[in-house]
Amino acid sequence: MHAYPHLFSPLTVGPLTLPNRVVMGSMHTGLEDHFWDYSRLAAFYEARARGGVGLIITGGIAPNRRGQLQPLGGRLASRLAVLPHRLVTRAVHAAGGRIVMQILHAGRYGYHPFVESASAVQAPISRFSPRAMSARRIAQVVRDHARCARLARLAGYDGVEIMGSEGYLLSQFLCARVNQRQDAWGGDLQGRLRLPLATVEAVRQAVGRDFLLLFRLSVLDLVEGGNDREAILTAARALEQAGVDVLDTGIGWHEARIPTIVGAVPRAAFRAAVAQVKRAVRIPVIATNRLPTPEVAEEVLASGDADLVALARPLLADPDWARKAAQGRATGIIPCIACNQACLDRTFAGQPVGCLVNPRAGQEATPGWSPASAPRRIAVVGAGPAGLSTALVAAERGHHVTLFEATAELGGQLALAARVPGKEEYGELIRYYRTRIAELGITLRLNTRAVAEDLRQGWDAVVVATGVTPRRLQLPGSDHPKVIPYPELLAGRRHAGARVAVIGAGGIGIDVCEFLLAGSTRPTLDEWCAEWGVDPTSATPGGLVPSVPGPRHREIWLLQRKPGRMGRGPGLTTGWVQQIALRRGGVQMLAGVQYLGIDDTGLRIQRAGQVEVLAVDSVVVCAGQESVRDLVPPAGSTGPGGLAVHVVGGAGQAAELDAERAIRQGAELAGRL
Ligand code: NAP
Ligand code: SF4
Repeated sequence: MHAYPHLFSPLTVGPLTLPNRVVMGSMHTGLEDHFWDYSRLAAFYEARARGGVGLIITGGIAPNRRGQLQPLGGRLASRLAVLPHRLVTRAVHAAGGRIVMQILHAGRYGYHPFVESASAVQAPISRFSPRAMSARRIAQVVRDHARCARLARLAGYDGVEIMGSEGYLLSQFLCARVNQRQDAWGGDLQGRLRLPLATVEAVRQAVGRDFLLLFRLSVLDLVEGGNDREAILTAARALEQAGVDVLDTGIGWHEARIPTIVGAVPRAAFRAAVAQVKRAVRIPVIATNRLPTPEVAEEVLASGDADLVALARPLLADPDWARKAAQGRATGIIPCIACNQACLDRTFAGQPVGCLVNPRAGQEATPGWSPASAPRRIAVVGAGPAGLSTALVAAERGHHVTLFEATAELGGQLALAARVPGKEEYGELIRYYRTRIAELGITLRLNTRAVAEDLRQGWDAVVVATGVTPRRLQLPGSDHPKVIPYPELLAGRRHAGARVAVIGAGGIGIDVCEFLLAGSTRPTLDEWCAEWGVDPTSATPGGLVPSVPGPRHREIWLLQRKPGRMGRGPGLTTGWVQQIALRRGGVQMLAGVQYLGIDDTGLRIQRAGQVEVLAVDSVVVCAGQESVRDLVPPAGSTGPGGLAVHVVGGAGQAAELDAERAIRQGAELAGRL
């Protein structure tokens, strides 16, 4: 019997029969904004279709100019604009896939001055104030949706999805938070529902019955003034009645201050919100958010909470996710670690998406690494992200690879990150590397600190990926027993006391604070909901309830020498979550600090001309890193045995240490060896 019988059972939706329940959920890739050339977008989706996904939903395409996400954002409003879309649909169909186009009117979330919405209420995450739409303008927007759907059909799509969640225009009309109108398009729920329903009806009329129509409904708004359960279920039933074939679901508006997809969110955290909609309608319902593995997806389907599962980032990380799961090779899936670093952070910076764990994501239109013309013997020193990535790609190309690692564990800095609360998925990446090392026959030499002698002969190429070592403090008492370098703490070799100073407020200092704040166990879903004030069943408007912070285990000071704001991690879309967690945990943040020394009384500092002693039990040092370059020959000379030595990752550049860069560098080097 199949390991995932529900995930891989076919389903007929509208006029289509899908081979499985895996949906590529809509994700803005940035490639849809290159509307003059969709060849990269076509190659991107073609790879996912080849990878066996049952249905693809594109990133949002605006039905008119005012609805665009940004000034040059993707838009389908004329016959001329159909042509590039044909590249996409042909590529996906040739690969055996099915694809629907998402129609998204951004409303007040558009990043341009021509934004419009139900009422003139500015979004807290936008600098542009929307114009309240007139009744005439609303009727035009309905017609624009219908025209966009007709053009999508002309472009060869198998259907369209109307975007009505995440706080975009139709969400804005659906919720009293933004819809403060007193006319027929606002007021009570019936009035607020009028635009979504009119849009569905107009689109259905434009495309006919034999064209798949999905509606993405926000089933948990997570903002004040959001809808409650009764309103959400009434909307779901009305949309079904209006002619929607499938209800896709969305969790949280973009302006919500509750995390919905970062790694700290428990897997399948919002299934209850989806399940209650599923029970209220007869049409199929798609579950979403934090369903990273086939096991989790199967369980959600098997329990009857949904009919299909939408994945976005996991399919960026591995386009072959569905095929590998179907073939019983789930351990070979490259896991998305929910870091947002190369995908959502890029999107919000206006750049095309990439992926930390998959350097090929977004690059599908250019040829990947080809098999080596002749196998070579390659020594890779260091099994951190750079070394692991080098070893895997080199072995995949047919080289004979030996991987030296000084410690007993794979992963380097990744293994330390995996100990941080909310970054547990990093451990999945290490597990994946371990699996692939075995599958590819890479010779792994753990507990082996390679020295020059080991590299002198027997190799055709040597790659140094020895990573970094933590920077040591240069101040009186820096060797005091209270002092703990962060790797010692995270690896569990040393333990901190009840009062802790953390020196260095970079990404790792903040991670260390989260580690120190957490108890020994990961919160259950109920505890997580209580901490963030979430009711997934929306018994209250928006699903918001008073938050109940967990117990405090420690008193923590986070320190930096620079003046200015602190506590926000480096990630654009994850930093705010860490900042809230630190504030809630009572972490005291001190900037503009000069460190004077450490002794039995604690950490002596000077701040604003005043000397003070922080009476702490432990001082955790997170003061950056330095490269480990013992095996790197001086510039201009060759390595042991006269071979050129290649250096990748932190061994090459410790500043702004970055796992994405390390993995990409390793893969690119291995592609050339
Ligand atoms: P970092 O970001 O460079 O921060 C090092 C901190 O140490 C700074 O706050 C610096 O601030 C302080 N410092 C530097 N030299 C010092 C010295 N000699 N004595 C005392 N303090 C000193 O490094 P990191 O926190 O180790 O992080 C390494 C890299 O990993 C960074 O690029 C970071 O972005 C990345 N990272 C990313 C994530 C993520 O979630 N995306 C998470 C963790 C780490 P002052 O000089 O002002 O004191
Ligand atoms: Fe997942 Fe990170 Fe890749 Fe985004 S960048 S898809 S979150 S692994």
